[in-house]
Amino acid sequence: MTHIPDLTHGADDIVVPFQVDELDLRGRLVRLGRSATSIIDRHGYPPEVARVVAEATALTLLLGSGLKFDGRLILQTQTDGPIRMVVVDVSTPDRVRALARYDADRVNAAVAAGESDPARLIGAGQLVMTIDQGADMQRYQGIVPLEGEGLERAADRYFLQSEQIDTRVRLAVAEEVLPGEDGPRTAWRAGGVLVQHFPPSGGHTRDLDPGDAPDGTERPEPAEAWAEARALTDTIGDDELVDRTVSPERLLFRLFHERGVRVFEAQGVTDHCTCSRERIENLVQSFSREERRDMVEDGHITVTCEYCSSSWRFAPSEFDPVE
Ligand SMILES: [Zn+2]
Repeated sequence: MTHIPDLTHGADDIVVPFQVDELDLRGRLVRLGRSATSIIDRHGYPPEVARVVAEATALTLLLGSGLKFDGRLILQTQTDGPIRMVVVDVSTPDRVRALARYDADRVNAAVAAGESDPARLIGAGQLVMTIDQGADMQRYQGIVPLEGEGLERAADRYFLQSEQIDTRVRLAVAEEVLPGEDGPRTAWRAGGVLVQHFPPSGGHTRDLDPGDAPDGTERPEPAEAWAEARALTDTIGDDELVDRTVSPERLLFRLFHERGVRVFEAQGVTDHCTCSRERIENLVQSFSREERRDMVEDGHITVTCEYCSSSWRFAPSEFDPVE
């Protein structure tokens, strides 16, 4: 059974869930256009940093869109490479914001030495995933080492180690030049797919009895099903992941049509920061009176959000009334 939904809706800035029952797979596909471009443009990142931020954003959306509750998923790299930190913060259902910290001289040196691929620029360290379900709930934090192999393989390893789920992640980023009113402009595209194996009796893929499908057809052994799924996922070209002319539905159909793929309703994605005057005010309030006094410049406390560059200005007397 293959169900192909409406192909006419916009194929950018969406996450598309899908399922391949014969192979016991569940997955999600992400496509970013305008949202990736606006995150990158706002920060003015050089292309090599932009690429890593777009890749991390696609990955975090693949992960965060799987949350079954209202909350946030924050992905953070802390590494020894020229790009020492990337943070992507996804708030369900559809908001994403991202930032990077990097050493411009080291990025330039890496580019000059021909070592500008994202995995090299990130380097080694750790990948931290934080799941936040709100003020009354405990935060969950998972950490996986980054060993210079980049985000895709680190994500695979994270799921295998922390949740015992066989997972394959693919990510791709492309820079394109579009005609604009004031001449050509650079736009960014990012795409990714996450495929996970949930064998019928749960647990791991190894040595499980496949059982029979409800309609009596023979299912592949779990280990074979996973090997097939992984091989298919690896055939996706980077160009296909970001190609605006190939809709997510069409790409998934090309991959899994022999097994039957069900594609579910897409979730939109918006580049939107969750900061607000009230939140920043609470943040400033959380400092001590002395600390706040040190923040005063030209008679005001000014706080700039590192994600979206919005600035808020407060009079010190809003926090510490003059007696
Ligand atoms: Zn902000």
